[in-house]
Amino acid sequence: MDTGTPHKHEFKAEVSALLKLVTNSLYTNQEIFLRELISNASDALDKARFEALTNRELLGRDLAPEITLTADPDRKLLIIEDNGIGMSQEEATRNLGTIAHSGTLEFLRRLKEQQQSGERPDVNLIGQFGVGFYSAFMVADRIDVYSRSAHAGHAAVHWSSTGDGTFTTAPADREIRGTRIELHLKDEATEFAERLRIENIVRRYSNYVMHPIKLQVLEDGKPTGDAQQVNEASAFWTRSPKDLSEDDYKAFYKHVMGGYVMPGDEPIAHLHFSADAPIQFSTVLYIPGRPPADLFMEDRKSLTLFARRVMIMESCDKLLPLYLRFIRGVVDSEDLPLNVSREMIQEHKVLTGIRRSLTRKVLKLLAELASDKPEEYAKVWRNFGAVLKEGIHTDSDHHDDLVELLRYRTSSSGDDSISLAQYVEAMPEGQDAIYYITGNDPAALARSPHLEACRARGFQVLLMTDAVDEWVVQDLREYKEKALISVSQGDFELPEEDEKKNEEAAKEIESTLTRANEVLREQVKEVRASKRLTESPSCLVDDEGDLSRNMERILRMANQAVPTRKRILEINPTHPFVRTLNTIASEAPDDPRISTWIELLHDQAALAEGQVADPAGMVKRLQSLLSEVAGHS
Ligand code: ADP
Ligand code: MG
Repeated sequence: MDTGTPHKHEFKAEVSALLKLVTNSLYTNQEIFLRELISNASDALDKARFEALTNRELLGRDLAPEITLTADPDRKLLIIEDNGIGMSQEEATRNLGTIAHSGTLEFLRRLKEQQQSGERPDVNLIGQFGVGFYSAFMVADRIDVYSRSAHAGHAAVHWSSTGDGTFTTAPADREIRGTRIELHLKDEATEFAERLRIENIVRRYSNYVMHPIKLQVLEDGKPTGDAQQVNEASAFWTRSPKDLSEDDYKAFYKHVMGGYVMPGDEPIAHLHFSADAPIQFSTVLYIPGRPPADLFMEDRKSLTLFARRVMIMESCDKLLPLYLRFIRGVVDSEDLPLNVSREMIQEHKVLTGIRRSLTRKVLKLLAELASDKPEEYAKVWRNFGAVLKEGIHTDSDHHDDLVELLRYRTSSSGDDSISLAQYVEAMPEGQDAIYYITGNDPAALARSPHLEACRARGFQVLLMTDAVDEWVVQDLREYKEKALISVSQGDFELPEEDEKKNEEAAKEIESTLTRANEVLREQVKEVRASKRLTESPSCLVDDEGDLSRNMERILRMANQAVPTRKRILEINPTHPFVRTLNTIASEAPDDPRISTWIELLHDQAALAEGQVADPAGMVKRLQSLLSEVAGHS
């Protein structure tokens, strides 16, 4: 009941946009609104329980946490009530009038994209992002929220809206702390006031919510008996793994992921264990079956932290190193003090101990997957390889374990990826280094002229296409005493029996080299004879110690200043074009074709990498060459 005049407020623009979507275009999967409201109620209970530990003034300090659902089919009403932390008028206005979560904004952005490209909005996204409170407007044409903050000194508030761009707030007369949300169900959504339907949804999405969820269904406006508890409400991780089936773990995973997992996205593997010394904790962790939507976002979810079954942080990123941020699950410890602030908990030494142990266990799980279930591991690698690789650079303690987890495609592995151990295993006689090339497109790398010498000798080349690989190679200088060598950088040399022949050939094109160094003085640092080419006439390489081409691209993408610098042009002394050019250069040094051809060698090398500085000039040069060939035939 209101105890004062209502105030009218406008929703923030993004809320209005979201509400339009929710009320007009999301038809399926409506039931998730209940999961969202229960999850809010559960959060509010957690907050109250956590604060009650330290705040003596907290209203209803010893209330037992509880969520009550009341359904009144006759009045087309569903009520969700909790005795949690509640909201003041100001909090209700802010929390139920704006969108604070980047996840939700991201959800909106994607839906908008889909709409603009003419697709039907993919409502499954809602499960991934969770649009929270506002999803209730899928089923209700009016929502009344009555709430009283557990913090002393705040009157109760009545918030009300029909979801059409405005809402009202007014003082109300609720005595106990917590929130009561009344949904006036749309005519086509009255199923959500039916017992079986509600029980079903709660078990499906909210079974592992830690607080009891009780259901009361009214008949003729009157209770039909005591409210019945409909969820499990127990700490899943305290159960013994031998009493749990794969399906149980999948069900709990769903809970961990916010209640929704698309078919095919089931977890790849899980870990469930307890430790007693030196620190007591229990944990259930999962490797997700698909990358969480927020993997590269600032406010992404991480593990949920409990202290003695009380949830103290929904998302604690101190429990695992950053490069394992794709792992989801819960950690519960007996050794964490309950009566300290969240900020202080973040720094607590117990967390450091748990983190050490979890990191070891997760790496062990990954190693086991890699050796026992390579196909499952391949999936992990596809999803999270780029994240795991960060560890090579950041976690020297586990360097050796991480190196064994690396997988790369090679110049001869097709679509398969292999480990460094497999690479070394397959090295032919005479190969004593590990060769790699970095770039962004595996197909382009596989065709690169830089690979020719290796290919001719049957050496595989690792194709490294993640940005983070540039850092990996800097840290990983060698593996099993085999040096890692870039095929596109430095003075490349292969152990080689026809070394002599090569040197002679290089000497033979002396006049070309001299001329080329003059002609291309502005464009390149140096022109030299190549030892890495067997088929192509030329290629560009980076000098030893210079930034690689790929690194330069990555830095530019990150808007970093990259100094301009010249590269080295290598030409293939055995290539017929080069040999002909050389003949002309030594016999008719004034022939105007010489400089054109030299420039063409440079053009070609640039083109092989996908970038020519002067395409128009190149076309002209090609044209003159082609005309000449045509004239000769
Ligand atoms: P989220 O739960 O992701 O924050 P929601 O849209 O579900 O987003 O809820 C918005 C905010 O409204 C919550 O963060 C919380 O501050 C407040 N809120 C919602 N339901 C309740 C409730 N039952 N008790 C107290 N606060 C609530
Ligand atoms: Mg919520």
